Amino acid sequence: MELLNDLQSKLLNIDGRGYKLYKSITGRYRGKEYTIIIDHAQGDPYADASKIRVLIPSTVSCFPEDTFSVKSRQTALCDFITREFYGACRKYSTPRGGADKSGLITIEKPGQEILERTSVFVNGDSVEIRFLMGLPAMGRKIAGRKALKMFFEELPKIIEKSGFYKNLNREKLYRHIKTSEDADFIRKKLRDSGIISFIAAGSILPRKSGIDPGPMDRENAVAFVVPEKYKINIECPNAGTITGMGIPPGISLIVGGGYHGKSTLLNAIENGIYNHIPDDGREFVVTDYSAFKIRAEDGRRIEKTSISPFISNLPLNRSTDFFCSEDASGSTSQAANIIETMEAGCRILLIDEDTSATNFMIRDHRMQELISKDREPITPFIDKAAQLYSEFGISSILVIGGSGDYFDIADHVISMEDYIPRDRTEEAKAIAKKYSTERKKEGGNSFGKTTKRIPIARSIDPSRGKRDLKINFHNLKSIQFGRYHINLASIEQIVETAQTRALAAAIVYAKRYMNASTNLKTVINSVLKDISEKGLDILSPYPSGNLALFRGLELAAAINRLRSLEIK
Ligand code: ADP
Ligand code: MG
Repeated sequence: MELLNDLQSKLLNIDGRGYKLYKSITGRYRGKEYTIIIDHAQGDPYADASKIRVLIPSTVSCFPEDTFSVKSRQTALCDFITREFYGACRKYSTPRGGADKSGLITIEKPGQEILERTSVFVNGDSVEIRFLMGLPAMGRKIAGRKALKMFFEELPKIIEKSGFYKNLNREKLYRHIKTSEDADFIRKKLRDSGIISFIAAGSILPRKSGIDPGPMDRENAVAFVVPEKYKINIECPNAGTITGMGIPPGISLIVGGGYHGKSTLLNAIENGIYNHIPDDGREFVVTDYSAFKIRAEDGRRIEKTSISPFISNLPLNRSTDFFCSEDASGSTSQAANIIETMEAGCRILLIDEDTSATNFMIRDHRMQELISKDREPITPFIDKAAQLYSEFGISSILVIGGSGDYFDIADHVISMEDYIPRDRTEEAKAIAKKYSTERKKEGGNSFGKTTKRIPIARSIDPSRGKRDLKINFHNLKSIQFGRYHINLASIEQIVETAQTRALAAAIVYAKRYMNASTNLKTVINSVLKDISEKGLDILSPYPSGNLALFRGLELAAAINRLRSLEIK
């Protein structure tokens, strides 16, 4: 291994020469306090920034054992260091700000969620931080002196401010770790407590705006109030007793007038599969990890999904047992989304009328009279929700402001009025009795047949042109996978680009488990098992700092949306 001083002389040597010579600085450089590893140097100033790592031995970083001794704390600590590193980059690096990346030092910006990522690793031996640097150019020439400044003035400050325990705000660090640990604790407690989601009293659910996921200002936001009937106390290891609303399994309706906070509540519940940073407002909004947001997604492709529990008797006798479509309708897409997520192991469906197909959710008495059942392929969700729970144990939390027909099947009815939830189950049931609808049940005696699908490995092909692996990301939820496209816009619980990147890599990885007899769920479980045993790094051929953990439900959703997918 070379010494950090060698890097200094190398940079001076190549100053003013052709940009490609930056390649010559790849390697490991040991300094007094830490080692810098240049894994990949970019070939030109407009290419992706260079991939660099720093290894700080624990004798220098000095993080106390209790900040990483258990998995939950370790994840939160790594998340914290990533945020501090990001903040320090903003403060100490001096990017030129042009189309090239000259002068940039950065790490992928984390959002409101505490996720397991590949940006930072901490264990008893060392802290490893993976980041990006835009090696500086003058035109197409190496700006060696500026590079020196980056490596020997800016970077040391960034590393010391984020990777050395003594320079961090201890109170802030421990708050981060303990908040996340409590959220993990609550999630583990949900089943024992007989609930599927927990919303702490005083939580701030609304967000700043449609594009800013930070909390709404406290002056404007109505803090969450817990209805007496659903009150539950959970004794947490750090925060002590936290009081909140527990949503029981079964079928729960969130009702109420428009603009009274229904969707905001459901959004918080769906995001509760993740832990949140302190001051997010949703630190103790915690949902079972198997809850999946379902919505209509017209235009999506469907490959041999058995949607017959919801859709049958299509025109021209088209079968729906192994349904295929290149351009699904609102209702067929929503049906496929439910069947596919059941196949992947979802136990809780989250559905908002705002993003549902009306004809998938409800068919009222008058419509039943006008259009007889044998002329309507769709069996609406209202006739299937109870079967989902009794036959498969799958609960539903539904935002329904538009149809009281749902009172008949609901176990719990919660209204939102001026952003305050109230239990209205008794009233809703009394109303259902008084004004009984003459609507006929259309769901039959049982939910119907579901199948296990076997994906064909060769249909998953990430190659394009001369390259065996060509994957691009257009935005948070769009993957160019070889010659095909994967649109994840409707997979609402993906929150970071790093997850999307990991999902794309996981699809390629998953191919090794696909053979003529292995179904999709088994393939996905094998991938998740490998990740949990060996880490996210197995998804990448070189150390990459920009991957984040995803669920099996999202991996299944991504595979199902690959436009070339073939099922046996
Ligand atoms: P609904 O689904 O009932 O029509 P939304 O959940 O979309 O209503 O909320 C409507 C508006 O009210 C949104 O702009 C949202 O940010 C805001 N809002 C939601 N909950 C709260 C709250 N607790 N305090 C203040 N504003 C809120
Ligand atoms: Mg709404």
